[in-house]
Amino acid sequence: MEFTFSEEHAMLREAVRDFTDGVIRPIADEIDKKHAIPREVIDQMAELGLLGVAIPEEYGGAGMGETGLCVVMEELTQGDFAVAVTLGAHASIGAMSVLVGGTEEQKQRFLPDFATGAKFACFALSEAGAGSDPGAMTTTAVRDGDDWILNGEKVWITAGDIADIAVVYAITDKEKGANGGVTSFLVPREAEGYSIGRNEDKMGQRGSGTVTLAFDNVRVSDANRLGEVGYGFRTAMGVLDRGRLALGANCLGAAREAHKLSVEYAKQREAFGKPIAAYQAMQWMLADSAMDIFAMESMIYRTAWLCDTGQPFGREAAMVKLHASEALCQVADRAVQIHGGMGYSAEYKIERLYRDARVTRIYEGTNEIQRIVVARDVLKRGY
Ligand SMILES: Cc1cc2nc3c(=O)[nH]c(=O)nc-3n(C[C@H](O)[C@H](O)[C@H](O)COP(=O)(O)OP(=O)(O)OC[C@H]3O[C@@H](n4cnc5c(N)ncnc54)[C@H](O)[C@@H]3O)c2cc1C
Repeated sequence: MEFTFSEEHAMLREAVRDFTDGVIRPIADEIDKKHAIPREVIDQMAELGLLGVAIPEEYGGAGMGETGLCVVMEELTQGDFAVAVTLGAHASIGAMSVLVGGTEEQKQRFLPDFATGAKFACFALSEAGAGSDPGAMTTTAVRDGDDWILNGEKVWITAGDIADIAVVYAITDKEKGANGGVTSFLVPREAEGYSIGRNEDKMGQRGSGTVTLAFDNVRVSDANRLGEVGYGFRTAMGVLDRGRLALGANCLGAAREAHKLSVEYAKQREAFGKPIAAYQAMQWMLADSAMDIFAMESMIYRTAWLCDTGQPFGREAAMVKLHASEALCQVADRAVQIHGGMGYSAEYKIERLYRDARVTRIYEGTNEIQRIVVARDVLKRGY
């Protein structure tokens, strides 16, 4: 048993850390306040090869697997969560939909552009009436000769504002619903009838675009149907396994940053003539956060290893998402407490980290849904 990163993964970490320190950190506050990520940042991430880090080399990517993607996510999130989650919408769930559910021809046609960033992808599953229960979706795709006609609206779509291609999940057989009645499609932004709604005004991760995507008789070629008719739900669940793992790595990065700032602050802030780090109440919080971070790291990279070695990892990915998001919220909450009034000030990074953390317990499937996924698997396969 070995617990070391390969030389390639270690080099990747160094490169992303340099990029985060040099480019992301200095503008993270501005990104939050302006609710926008400068386009150059996305372009620079593309130049660094981060958009295709998990795409196999045969399709033009870096071939560094989920482990590589988790390394990228962990490092980037230390600079800014919104930037990392925007990358995730493309690299972890958008482009991944083609890798998980596409035919060989579709992989060859779409993945090279996704790898270089020539095309940016997003993942459009949720609807106003279908979040935790995507089987209740009402977006439809009806066959029309060599095409499909899509109608409906998707909500909460991360990076839907900048994506060139949306992976859209639609009902193709109402009777079957989630059990074989959902199919996914690669829908180009320029398609007639495709419209992008306003950006949500969110509590946190404010720099990332979160929009509705509406489809009004959008014509999509059958060649852009992702995989078999009726396999969409299976694809979505396979993609979300990966998304949940990468989100765990986001949580790890954010927790590391909050913890690092807390340790520094506790050492330099004095109360009653001593640094607050001298008080056991502060030390216990620091110890608990260190333990949470160690547990997150252990779970995430073990699960990434399961994925990259072709072993089942769905239950583990759900546990990673559930644990990492809850641990992050605790670490961020302790960080605010350790910083006292400074932790509550919008002038200081801790306040943003706290706001950015909260949604991790909601998206990529709420934590209640993760518990259902884990429990079902435990009852089916045992442990
Ligand atoms: C910032 C942000 C970005 C997002 N990005 C994307 C994206 O890129 N693509 C995309 O497709 N979606 C995206 N989403 C949507 C996200 O996945 C959903 O919000 C999430 O799945 C929850 O759905 P909902 O909001 O409809 O909540 P609901 O499903 O209405 O849930 C409300 C509450 O009921 C609970 N609940 C529901 N069913 C059960 C049950 N069976 N047992 C116990 N409790 C239950 C939930 O856990 C939750 O606490 C994003 C959401 C946000 C906030």
